[in-house]
Amino acid sequence: MKACPEYREYVYLDVLGELPPEKKRQWEEHLSGCPHCREERETTVRFLKGLETNAPRPLLSPHEAMAIREKVSRTISRETHWSSLRHTFSKKVALLIPIAAAACLFLVSVFALHTWWSGRAPKMASNTTVQVEQKARLEDMEIIKNLDLLEQMDTLRVLVKVVDNKDII
Ligand SMILES: [Zn+2]
Repeated sequence: MKACPEYREYVYLDVLGELPPEKKRQWEEHLSGCPHCREERETTVRFLKGLETNAPRPLLSPHEAMAIREKVSRTISRETHWSSLRHTFSKKVALLIPIAAAACLFLVSVFALHTWWSGRAPKMASNTTVQVEQKARLEDMEIIKNLDLLEQMDTLRVLVKVVDNKDII
């Protein structure tokens, strides 16, 4: 059965408690005399009660939903932070690779130069030693020459003295 078309709206408004007070008396008078509208009203009330009891309960309470939402957004922001950090780190690593390669090349060059230099160094040292020895020998020779000269000088001095004394005598 259907409610009278002119009162159909009243049925729903009454069930929902939204019927304006000035229309309530008129509606109640009609309802007491009209079985169609009474039945429609009862059907609507049963339907709404059925909805309330049988409707699936929300899986999460608003509080639980809020907590999960916060957790998810925290996780997302943390992951974004980490991924940006990873991105920065990989960029830095990418920058560091040529620098590290250059440093390795430099170290290898230094090592090679050092090895080459150590290979040469003993020869240089021996050359220097020979030169020093030769120089020392030359110096020795000069000292010997000087000594000879000194001896000659001494002899001369003695001679001069002798001559001088003779003069005095
Ligand atoms: Zn009616």
